[in-house]
Amino acid sequence: MRTEHHPLLPSTPGARHELVSLHFGTSHARPGAGPKVYIQASLHADEVPSMLVAHHLRSRLAALDAAGQVTGEVVLVPAANPLGMGQWMLRSPQGRFEWGSGENFNRQFTDLTSAVIERCGDKLGADAQANVALVRTALRGAVAALPATTSLEHLRRTLLGMAVDADVVLDLHCDGEALLHLYSTHAGWDAGGELLTRCLGAEVALLAGRSGGDPFDEACSMLWPDLAERLGPAKPVPPACLAATIELRGEGDVAHGLAERDADAILVYLHHRGAIRLDPAPALPPTVCEPTPLAGSMPLHAPHGGVLVFLCEVGQRVCTGEPLAEIIDPITGATSVLTSPVDGLFFARERKRFAVAGMPIGKVAGREALRQGSLLSA
Ligand SMILES: [Zn+2]
Repeated sequence: MRTEHHPLLPSTPGARHELVSLHFGTSHARPGAGPKVYIQASLHADEVPSMLVAHHLRSRLAALDAAGQVTGEVVLVPAANPLGMGQWMLRSPQGRFEWGSGENFNRQFTDLTSAVIERCGDKLGADAQANVALVRTALRGAVAALPATTSLEHLRRTLLGMAVDADVVLDLHCDGEALLHLYSTHAGWDAGGELLTRCLGAEVALLAGRSGGDPFDEACSMLWPDLAERLGPAKPVPPACLAATIELRGEGDVAHGLAERDADAILVYLHHRGAIRLDPAPALPPTVCEPTPLAGSMPLHAPHGGVLVFLCEVGQRVCTGEPLAEIIDPITGATSVLTSPVDGLFFARERKRFAVAGMPIGKVAGREALRQGSLLSA
């Protein structure tokens, strides 16, 4: 295992932050080497379960590396957001939005499609695999050339620089209270996403194209189908990166048993992708869920402030019109009942039990794509 330190540009004089990345195996750019896998934990710095999964991955990967069983390259960033990790106010962590700008840490990752075409479009030809190598070289250059003035911009550039040429990118997050679920792309589903869902035992897989907001995973994955569309069949470009945002249940699901299970599940996936070799070889897990459209994941919002009482547990199948929660105004006694907008799976809900007007309080995964525009929450 090799450890790399990445000092971040300070936004204010004297401030110091650094990213740390752990490297296992040998560069995937070497002939004969297996695929490159990039895994990061807690880009939203207050989403703790993934840091515990990374903790267990570190020791397992180190043992595999020492035994010569890392056949590709694995990069693990065990705490991807040192800026957000330090944002505490009145005893509460604030790891989702950067205080200086109000920006979500997992948005605004640059779409590099045009930059890649500028750098290597005229060099691409009829050989898809040769095109992948040329595109990856162009990507590394394009990320290195991105401007970065603030700590936040430098954080985004550094993370993207480590991930953008990978075959597999896993961005580990969590929800408020939730089933294990993931977000990926239509193109990625056949390029490893289906297998990842099985290995993780994810109960919901939400697929989209570009969902709006430019999250980290899409910056790594969507440029491949976008390149294929823009370059046409004469210059074939396969979906060479499977990227997924994995929601490791809820904020409070921080336990060794769960984290060890999730770390093992990720390693089973890495084995089947040829990045590591487990002994004995694990069997292919069964299919747990069919994918559903991200545009069919229907959010519920509080119509006014009040006490939030759930009438339905996470993981329940629900029907249109079924009551899921009540919002009770404690002063007037007025009560609103929130019902499911669709038939589907109630897979995620808020952890707090007091709502303010407009607050998202839960999500139901339905089968039909009903939403348009930006599909991600703030
Ligand atoms: Zn998150």
